[in-house]
Amino acid sequence: MNTTTHFLSEAIQLASDNVGGGGRPFGALVVRDGVVISRGVNEILATNDPTSHAEVNALRAASQSLGTPNLAGCEVYASGQPCPMCMAAIRMAGITRVRYAYSNEDAEPFGLSTAAIYADLAKPFAEQSMYIRHEPISPEPTLYRAWKDAQQG
Ligand SMILES: [Zn+2]
Repeated sequence: MNTTTHFLSEAIQLASDNVGGGGRPFGALVVRDGVVISRGVNEILATNDPTSHAEVNALRAASQSLGTPNLAGCEVYASGQPCPMCMAAIRMAGITRVRYAYSNEDAEPFGLSTAAIYADLAKPFAEQSMYIRHEPISPEPTLYRAWKDAQQG
């Protein structure tokens, strides 16, 4: 078994075990240099936290373990195709490699696909199904300027 198959199989096993505990069928690993840094499963039901997805939980645990919010050099292995929230979180953590075992096409018949959200997010804000509007309240981004000034001080 190659390492990709090995880690994806572990992610699927985590997801399967999570189902056994009443959770949703998603598991993920953060791996660096062939070593598992952290594991996560979907805990939205157990925690009443809509952001408690497997990938986000694995990112949080990896950052705590490594003592940094920057996870550049790490890779994510997920049982299922990461949703847009998780994909963005993975990117924002500095991770550039993601692998998943089950696609949105695999998930669609079971109501577990996030393909529709991906498609909606690809549209300009004004065309998305959510109401999203930029409402500028001042001509200058003074908050950001103050932050930048504090960084240089
Ligand atoms: Zn997600």
